[in-house]
Amino acid sequence: MGGLSVRDAVVRYDGEGGTTAVAGVDLDVADGEILALLGPSGCGKSSLLRAVAGLEPLTAGTIAFDGEDLAGVPVHRRGFGLLFQDGQLFAHRDVARNVAYGLEVARVPRAERAARVHELLDAVGLAGYGARSVSTLSGGERQRVALARALAPRPRLLLLDEPFSALDRALRERLAVDVRDVLRATGTTAVFVTHDHDEAFTVADRTGVMQAGRLLQVAPPEELWRAPASREVAQFLGYQAFVPLGTRAGGWLAVGPTGLRVLSDARSTPQQPGSDDSGRVWEARVVESAFRRGRAQVIVVVDLGSGDQRLVAQVEDAAAPAPGAAVKVTLDESSCAVVGG
Ligand code: ADP
Repeated sequence: MGGLSVRDAVVRYDGEGGTTAVAGVDLDVADGEILALLGPSGCGKSSLLRAVAGLEPLTAGTIAFDGEDLAGVPVHRRGFGLLFQDGQLFAHRDVARNVAYGLEVARVPRAERAARVHELLDAVGLAGYGARSVSTLSGGERQRVALARALAPRPRLLLLDEPFSALDRALRERLAVDVRDVLRATGTTAVFVTHDHDEAFTVADRTGVMQAGRLLQVAPPEELWRAPASREVAQFLGYQAFVPLGTRAGGWLAVGPTGLRVLSDARSTPQQPGSDDSGRVWEARVVESAFRRGRAQVIVVVDLGSGDQRLVAQVEDAAAPAPGAAVKVTLDESSCAVVGG
C-alpha cells in the first residue's frame, strides 16, 4: 500500500519515572492525503511526528512508507520534508537560496534549480521575493519561505509541526488556507500537527484526535463533528456541555459551541417539552453579554442536568439580554451530536 503506515507505535522517554509520549498508535496516511494530528499540548503529537521523521527512535512498533519499513533509515534518507514552528531560515542566504537549499544538496543542475525556486515562490505567494534578505521578512513571509524550501525537493511526505503557532490569529487563518492550497496543488502527502481544531479542519482531509499518547479517532472534519467517538473527542472539539440522554443505553447529547439558543421571547412556551431534547427548555440566568464574529451571544448559568454550568448561548434578537436577566434556553439540534457513554 502507498503512503505512510504506522503500527503500534510507542515512544517512551527515559528519565525520572519515564514518560510514554506515544502509547500505541496505528495510523495510515494515503498517497496525496493531508492528515492533521490534533490534540492538547503534551498529548504526544510532536513525538509521533518526530518518530515518523526519524528524529526520535520508536520504543516499539513500526513505521513504513510505500511498504518499506523505515527502522534504521536515517532522517536524511527518508525523503521527507520538515517544517517547524520556527522555520529556521539560513540568515546568510537570500530567499531564493534558502528555497534552493535542498536542491543544491541533491545536486540539481542550476537552471532546473532556478526554475523550481521560481515555481515554489510563486506557489507560496512570494513571487519576486527571491533576492530579498530573510531579515527583511515578516513572520508569515518567513514561514512561507520555509514551506517553499521544504517542498522544493518534492518530498514524498511533508511533516509540519505547529508551523503557524508563533503567528497572530488572522495571519494563521490565511496561511492555513494557503498551505492547504499549495499542498493540494503539489499533490503533497502531509502530516500536520496542531492544537487548533479550526486550523486542522482547514488544512486536512482527515484529522486524528490525540489524547494522552493515544489516537482517539481519525475522520474527516464533518464526520468528527457529526459523530465524535467519545465525550473526550467532543470536548476537545469544543462541545461545551453534555446532556444525559436518559435512555437505557446511556449516552449524551453533546452541545456544540453554538448548540444552545436563547428563546427569543422568554414568555412564550414554544414546543411542548417532551422526550426530544431539541424541544426541551431550561431556565437560565444571563451573566455576560458579548458580541463575537458578528453575532450577539450571552453567557448563561444553566443546569442541563449535571449541575450549574456557564455556557455560551446564541441570541437571535438584535439586542442581547442584559446580565442578570432570566431567560429560557433550548438546544439547536443541528449543532448537537449524540455520543456514547
Ligand atoms: P505535543 O506535541 O502534543 O505537545 P509532545 O510529543 O511534545 O506533545 O510531548 C508528549 C510528552 O512527552 C509530554 O509529557 C512531554 O513532556 C514529553 N516529552 C517530549 N519530548 C521529550 C523529551 N525529549 N524528553 C522527555 N520527555 C519529553
